[in-house]
Amino acid sequence: MVAARETALPLDLARIRADFPVLSRQVNGHPLVYLDSAASAQQPAAVIDAVAGYARAHHANVHRGVHTLSQEATALYEGARERVRRFVNAASVAEIVFVRGATEAINLVAQSFGRPQFAAGDEIVVTRLEHHSNIVPWQLLAAETGARVRVVPINGRGVVDFEAYLGLLGPRTRLVALAHVSNALGTVLPVAAFVAAARERGIATVIDGAQAAPHLPVDVQAIGCDFYAFSAHKMYGPTGIGVLYAREALLAAMPPWQGGGDMILTVSFEGSTWNHLPHRFEAGTPNIGGAVGLGAAIDYLGGVGAARIAAHEQDLLEYATARLAGIPGLTLVGTAPDKSSLVSFTVEGVHPHDLGTVLDSRGIAVRTGHHCAMPVMEHFGVPATTRASFGLYNTRAEVDALHAALGDAIRMLR
Ligand code: PLP
Repeated sequence: MVAARETALPLDLARIRADFPVLSRQVNGHPLVYLDSAASAQQPAAVIDAVAGYARAHHANVHRGVHTLSQEATALYEGARERVRRFVNAASVAEIVFVRGATEAINLVAQSFGRPQFAAGDEIVVTRLEHHSNIVPWQLLAAETGARVRVVPINGRGVVDFEAYLGLLGPRTRLVALAHVSNALGTVLPVAAFVAAARERGIATVIDGAQAAPHLPVDVQAIGCDFYAFSAHKMYGPTGIGVLYAREALLAAMPPWQGGGDMILTVSFEGSTWNHLPHRFEAGTPNIGGAVGLGAAIDYLGGVGAARIAAHEQDLLEYATARLAGIPGLTLVGTAPDKSSLVSFTVEGVHPHDLGTVLDSRGIAVRTGHHCAMPVMEHFGVPATTRASFGLYNTRAEVDALHAALGDAIRMLR
């Protein structure tokens, strides 16, 4: 009931936009139209102020000090961890490891979960639409252990082939790693179904949630995954901080992946003992200010409401899809029925980089290139696409501005 009522209320976009200082600036003489949130979302004043407030009044090292500032910093840092726990519905804060971002989270799983256990002939299953950060760590692990990376195909719309996936799960499959949402195509994967099939066969699961956390409600217990990775900077938080959710029983059995301060209980030259979870996986001084900013971003998202954000972004996606589809020579890349918050496209006879440069001259920020998903580009037979990605602050008027500028740019570049 609450969710339905919440969905029915549209976002107050003028108020939301006023929360993001950068949105009032001009770029190349035009109001900024920021359509690159999938790369890095902008930060609301609440996040900027939380990070600055920490630095101004509470900064000290965490966990080790008896003095007041250290205790305040520790409370802020651990408070952020509890916010993350609630945000993903983890059972315990012991399951929330702060890392630099999704990339580091996935590398942590590869090196600490995979490397000690995997052997020659073992198989790691990924999908063709993964970001490089959910491919390369597994290739490195495969090279180190003799394991093999197997790839689930996608179809012409950018949907992952579930039957082919089931066919790839075999007695040697040790781990499945897949995106919740594709950054290059916008495809939303039915991750709970993928995870259930793996779990029935005793296979570990890693979900790359970098593109899901800002847009969809994330419930790791409902998904049933063993690991879930995401980055703060894609969900209106700062760079340099992200999260690895890891099922406690698995984390408890994993060796540390980096050694140093804070991850130990005792150190002597006869040997060292490891700290409790999750600190065992956070060697050295962490990004305390970043964690504070991530906590503020989670509060901000919660204040706006996940269901309202999803409804608004879905409206933008449908509006943009319909408008762009009407541009002659423009081909949408990624047309899955279940999509989130971005449009990726090519324009006949126009290179994406040229298009991106002309759009920038009109104050419109889009991303052009392979989006760190070269196998996706190969699948669609293109070297690059132009991607416009939406955040909760974007408007239909900005989609209109993109549409108009695209028309002009295409006329100019052809
Ligand atoms: N996974 C996906 C789907 C992404 O879109 C990205 C970033 O673009 C990443 C992983 C890597 O995130 P980060 O660079 O924050 O580690």
